[in-house]
Amino acid sequence: MENGSHKRVLQALRDSQEEMVRTLEELTNIDSPSTDKTHMDRFSAALAAKWKENGATVHTIEHDKYGNHLKAEWGDGEGQVLVLCHMDTVWAAGETAKRPFRVEDGKGYGPGAYDMKGGIVEALYAVKVLSGLGLGPKSRVVVLCNSDEEIGSPSSRPLIEDEARKSKAVLVLEPSAQGGSLKTWRKGVGMFEVTIRGRAAHAGADYEKGVSAAQEAAHQILHLHNLTDLDEGTTVNVGIVRSGTRRNVVAEEAILGIDLRVKTQEAANRVIPKILGLKAVDPRVSVSVKGELNRPPMERNQRNLALFQLARSIGQDMGIALSESGTGGGSDGNFTSALGIPTLDGLGPHGDDAHSTGEYVLLSSLPERAAVIAGLLLNL
Ligand SMILES: [Zn+2]
Repeated sequence: MENGSHKRVLQALRDSQEEMVRTLEELTNIDSPSTDKTHMDRFSAALAAKWKENGATVHTIEHDKYGNHLKAEWGDGEGQVLVLCHMDTVWAAGETAKRPFRVEDGKGYGPGAYDMKGGIVEALYAVKVLSGLGLGPKSRVVVLCNSDEEIGSPSSRPLIEDEARKSKAVLVLEPSAQGGSLKTWRKGVGMFEVTIRGRAAHAGADYEKGVSAAQEAAHQILHLHNLTDLDEGTTVNVGIVRSGTRRNVVAEEAILGIDLRVKTQEAANRVIPKILGLKAVDPRVSVSVKGELNRPPMERNQRNLALFQLARSIGQDMGIALSESGTGGGSDGNFTSALGIPTLDGLGPHGDDAHSTGEYVLLSSLPERAAVIAGLLLNL
C-alpha cells in the first residue's frame, strides 16, 4: 500500500479523536467484570451494536457461565487476519459508578480504560475510518472480543485458537509497554500448588512425635526460589505459604502457591519437571504437586519480529516511531504465538497503571495506534 493512503488514514483518525474519546467514555462506563455474566453480557451487547453500526457482521457466541463472546467480521479479502480484544476488566460491578471516566491533562482515567477498552476503541475506529475512506482490508478481518481474558480465558481459549489457526497474523490490542512499545514477546505462565503433609503433635508435651510440614515447607521454598535464573528470564515465585493451625501445635500441613514465568518453551520443559518432581527433604513427610503451564511463552521469534517490522515501516510512513519490547505478563497472544502464527501484541494505546485506580490512557495516542492497526489491515 502506498504512502499516501497511510497518511490519509492517520489524518482521518486524528480528525476522529474527540469521537474516539466519547466512545471510550461510553465503553469504560459500562462495568464488565470477568466473573459477572449479567454485567458482562450487557457490555457485550453494547459493543455488538457498535460493530454492527460499523458494517461488520457480528456473531454472539453465547456461554452459560461466562459472558458472551463476540466475533465481528469485516471485509472479503483472501485469507484472514485475527484481531484480539478482551472486553472484561479486573473491576467489580459498581466500580464505574464510583470512578466514572474522566479526562485530565490529555489523559483518560477509568476502570479498564487502558486495559483494554482503549484497544477496543482503536479497533472500532480503524475499521470505521477505512470504510469511510473506501479502503478495504487486504484480508478478511475477524475481531474476537472475549469476556474472560483476565481470568485466563477458560472458555474463549478454544475459540481463539481455532480462529488463529485460520489466520496469517494475529494483532493483540492489549495496552502498550512503557513508552508505547509494541510487544514481540511475553513470558509463559505456570501455576502450581504444593501440598506438604507431616504429623501434628503437642509442641510442648510431644514435640518429638511431630513431623513439621512448616519446616519442610521452608526447605522447599528455598529450593524452588533457587530455580530462578534471571539471565534466562526464568522466575519461580512462592507467592502463597500457608501452614499450621496453632502456635503450640507442630504443623501438620503446608500449602505453597507457585508462579512460574519462562521466556521459552525450552526453559519450561526444563523447569516444570523439577517443580512437579519435588522430593521431601524429611523422608517422613509427603510432598505432592499439581499444576501446569497455563499460558505458553510468546517467544521473540522471527515470525513475530517480521510482523513488528511491518508495523514499524507503516509507522515510519505515518511519522510514528515504533519500538518493541516484551513483558513477564501473559495475554491471549501467548496462545496464538505458541501455535506458530505471527503475533504482535501491545497495539493498544499509550498509558500506564493497568489494574490500579491510577490507570489511564494517553488520549492523543488513540488515533495514532488505530492508524497503525488500520495500516496493518491494509497490508496483511
Ligand atoms: Zn488486558
